[in-house]
Amino acid sequence: MDKVICDIRLKLLRQAARKVLPDGYWENHLGDCHLTFDDGPFPETTPYLAELLFEKSVGATFFFTGENARKYPELVRTVVEAGHQVGNHSYSHLFCYAESQEAFRRSLELTNNYIEEASGKRPVVYRPPFGIIDKSRALTVEAMGMKLVYWGALAEDWQALGEVEVVRRIDKQLEPGTIIVLHETEKNRSQCLNATGMVIDRVREQGFEFDAIAHKAHD
Ligand SMILES: [Zn+2]
Repeated sequence: MDKVICDIRLKLLRQAARKVLPDGYWENHLGDCHLTFDDGPFPETTPYLAELLFEKSVGATFFFTGENARKYPELVRTVVEAGHQVGNHSYSHLFCYAESQEAFRRSLELTNNYIEEASGKRPVVYRPPFGIIDKSRALTVEAMGMKLVYWGALAEDWQALGEVEVVRRIDKQLEPGTIIVLHETEKNRSQCLNATGMVIDRVREQGFEFDAIAHKAHD
């Protein structure tokens, strides 16, 4: 796809989503950028991301699925011990309408239980798979003590784009307070790790810094 059209499409997608989705965080109101990683944990990426973030002194939020947190509790612990926030990203990454209200609630509860069991911390933020949630499920999230977190800059990096294109797409969407979404995938390991380092450098080149949503979520 033409790069300009892709950039416009990503912006329009966010604007449209912001109009129709229930309230949640679309940016970090403290003004700093915030890095988030969806879909892990995976042994191929998570420990290396933790190492890279440590080297670069960046705090991030990892939105883990319950399924993966259950498989790799030691990775959940690694991330929390490194000072990052872990959020809930559903149990098995289903589109929210694919489950009944009660199944949706149970899947979130189960995910929180696995994350807490592994790390001692219960998530206070939730990111819906595919960025989509309805009002009644949003109330369930809130009743469970979690805030919804959406996104500011998305690269659709679950596909193999190459790190240069991932960074280019993110760069086009950067503003003060942007919540950046990157994806952990088993297949695109080097893209994920390389893009993360390059995005961090690019954000700083633009004069922005990083902060943690965790500060906001506890307000
Ligand atoms: Zn996801």
